[in-house]
Amino acid sequence: MNSPDYRVVLDQQGVESSVARLAAELSEKYHDGVVLAAVLRGSVPFLSDLSRAMSIRSVVDFLAITKYERGTGRVRLLKDLDIDITDREVVIVEDIVDTGLTSGFLWGEFSRRSPRSLSICTFVDRPSARMVPVELDHIGVEIPDEFVVGYGLDYRGRYRNLRMLASVDADILASDPDAYVEALYVS
Ligand code: 5GP
Repeated sequence: MNSPDYRVVLDQQGVESSVARLAAELSEKYHDGVVLAAVLRGSVPFLSDLSRAMSIRSVVDFLAITKYERGTGRVRLLKDLDIDITDREVVIVEDIVDTGLTSGFLWGEFSRRSPRSLSICTFVDRPSARMVPVELDHIGVEIPDEFVVGYGLDYRGRYRNLRMLASVDADILASDPDAYVEALYVS
């Protein structure tokens, strides 16, 4: 069977240079170190590369959220941060900001804990899908209204460990989640 078409949004080199740019931005801004609060599980590859590319001290912590249905607006914390962020410089690290519901929820949740500062760093931004306005301080790449996989972004657990970011057809994936495995993993 022929592999379906896809578009490379960022190849491995493009991913690496975006991460390097973001790491430089953060290193410049937070001289005294920063707490990187990452959303499981999609942001793990990004967080790992970002924290190591930074030239400042960082503390990494994780949280997990549940969404009942994409786009319904209902988000809740499944696993909270372990550390107290009161009076700390905090950056929320996201894989992609889509509707903004996740970021908006986390912003409200963390603001109440009185951090010294709070900002959002996302690897991918898809502004066309926004339902909740969120201010993104650091953006890796902005994409049009396309579904992407790779570099942490999965489809039912697949494609997360790709070193590149690719735009694929969500309808094709819905009928065959493995449709792009051959094309994306061998090239
Ligand atoms: P939102 O901004 O809508 O609250 O949520 C973003 C979450 O939806 C992401 O963390 C990710 O899990 C999922 N998501 C949104 N858009 C995409 C996409 O294009 N590809 C993949 N793989 N996941 C997406």
